[in-house]
Amino acid sequence: MRENKETLIQSAESVLYKTYNRFPVVFDHGQGVWLYDTDGAEYLDFGVGIAVAGLGYGDPQFTGALQEQASKLLHTSNLFYNAPAVRAGEKLLAASGMEKVFFTNSGTEAIEGALKIARRHAYNRDPGGEHTIIAMNGSFHGRSLGALSVTGNEHYRAPFAPLIPGVRFADFNDLDSVRRQLDSTTCAVILEPIQGEGGIYPAHPDFLSGVRQLCDEHGVLLIFDEIQCGMGRTGAMFAWQAYGVRPDVLTVAKALGNGVPIGAFLACGQAASAMVPGDHGSTYGGNPFAATAAETVLDIFRDRDIPAHAAKMGAYLGARLRELTEQFPCVAEQRGMGLMQGLQFNIPIAPIVRNALLEQNLILISAANNTIRFVPPLVIETQHIDEMISRLKKAISAVTGTLGGAPSPWNA
Ligand SMILES: *Cc1c(COP(=O)(O)O)cnc(C)c1O
Repeated sequence: MRENKETLIQSAESVLYKTYNRFPVVFDHGQGVWLYDTDGAEYLDFGVGIAVAGLGYGDPQFTGALQEQASKLLHTSNLFYNAPAVRAGEKLLAASGMEKVFFTNSGTEAIEGALKIARRHAYNRDPGGEHTIIAMNGSFHGRSLGALSVTGNEHYRAPFAPLIPGVRFADFNDLDSVRRQLDSTTCAVILEPIQGEGGIYPAHPDFLSGVRQLCDEHGVLLIFDEIQCGMGRTGAMFAWQAYGVRPDVLTVAKALGNGVPIGAFLACGQAASAMVPGDHGSTYGGNPFAATAAETVLDIFRDRDIPAHAAKMGAYLGARLRELTEQFPCVAEQRGMGLMQGLQFNIPIAPIVRNALLEQNLILISAANNTIRFVPPLVIETQHIDEMISRLKKAISAVTGTLGGAPSPWNA
């Protein structure tokens, strides 16, 4: 087995385009909150494919629905109607409070669609005018040229310039900064209600409602990217509902398909009819198989009230993480909402994440360069959270040489 794994990793490095530095682990299958590698070792998963497997692995209802649809029909193109897409759409509109939905194959594509709505909406009102978009520093919206154009991270952007013109950056949670970027050319503001990749920063409620008010005053569309923070992760179905600030355009992906690639952009009000036939399309978008995944996820969320469970477990996870800020001098701060939590360190986190994975069999992912991100399956229970905390403490101790408690000279 071991030899197979080394061979596979070598082959991967020679075959796959090298844009990732991967951990030397090959997963084989999953069950519940656990992943198993090709050597049979068991890992507790607090990353779930970057906030994707909200229902965990191997849910019988989900797997059964996919098997049934796979044996019937996978794909037809959007030249025809298909029932799973209509049902998934109805359920997603009901859950999100939006009026129209377009299914995509990824989060990035959902962002592309949202940006096209913004441009189209502005063009409909003023065809010759200049139309600019305000995005946030520290944001992440994806890797296509359009999504990169609104991603507030120079490291990702610089090698691919020039990006699409007319994007201005404001500081997240700083309403004056948004006001300073706003003028008569502004057609949209795009933001994540909780910044994910940027380090797990929830928006201040006043900031979101302030941006909403600014947008209303100036006829500007408000786009919420809930690709990571949506689908129950914060304890609400969508974060906008927890804040009580409704966007005009909403992007969703990640947990929507629980591992089957599907995303969506949704809109309400004028934004829901800004684009017309011919303006946008996708060969695969919302095909019967992917739509079945989304529909089944939405059914399970409703039937088992997954967001309410996430709220309860999220409160517990947040409290347990907060304890670590007192126990370990290297832990600076706990932040987050529901089951989207971050722990900021004042030492490099890469060795901790690596030790957690390779020594404690605990899957964690980083956000920004100083924060460990906790995005477990939404079906997690308190005993899994306790187990994670115990393994995380071991990883921190192994890396820093401190066992918690009082500051240690080894920790300097
Ligand atoms: C992951 C993510 C994206 C990009 O989604 P992909 O499916 O990787 O294309 C966009 N926005 C946010 C907030 C994300 O977390």
